Amino acid sequence: MEETTKIAISAGIQVGGSLFTPEQFAKIGSVVGTDATIEMTPFKQLYADVPLERREVIKDELERYGLEVYPAGFVTKSLIACNFCKGAEEAGLDTASALNSAIAGIETPTPLKIGYAGCALGTSEPLLKDIGVIKMRNTFDIYVGGEPKGLKTSFAKLVVSGLSEDRLIPAVIALIHFYKANAKGKEKFSKFVDRVSLEQLRQIAG
Ligand code: SF4
Repeated sequence: MEETTKIAISAGIQVGGSLFTPEQFAKIGSVVGTDATIEMTPFKQLYADVPLERREVIKDELERYGLEVYPAGFVTKSLIACNFCKGAEEAGLDTASALNSAIAGIETPTPLKIGYAGCALGTSEPLLKDIGVIKMRNTFDIYVGGEPKGLKTSFAKLVVSGLSEDRLIPAVIALIHFYKANAKGKEKFSKFVDRVSLEQLRQIAG
């Protein structure tokens, strides 16, 4: 039987949110084949199984249609961003796109969800993500350790605030790498945050 691999397809970071065109949906349908099933994940990615040996060809084809393709599984998911209703500039679309490019698809001990909201209304629910970024006028705040699953839910806690745009991506990357280097096995990020303490993470990200 042909070996398959799962890919994660995303519409990309844009004003309006996760918008797909009919052409993009048709393209996805044609590349995954008539027998495939396509899963809508809760983190704004579509999952599909494709033949392993055709993965790169399929990725190139989908990217030509303006879609983004990432690995599935134990990686950072593509950025779960808001709809940028306040406009690309005010809500920080360019920053969010750059953050997405920097973080999506990094191998991690458990799947990591990183959220972004272009203002304090936080309609993309950044405090329910492992790492949540919120744009506050001209600076950014980072929250860590949101846990929406199970019975012991918790909101992410503020780890650094008032970051300038150029310090945001290095800070988020530093948090991810610190987690990768220091997690105990498949330790969930929220548990990791509790164990290592906000103070320590503040030094890593600050
Ligand atoms: S977080 Fe703010 S800018 Fe983004 S969609 Fe919600 S209200 Fe609009």
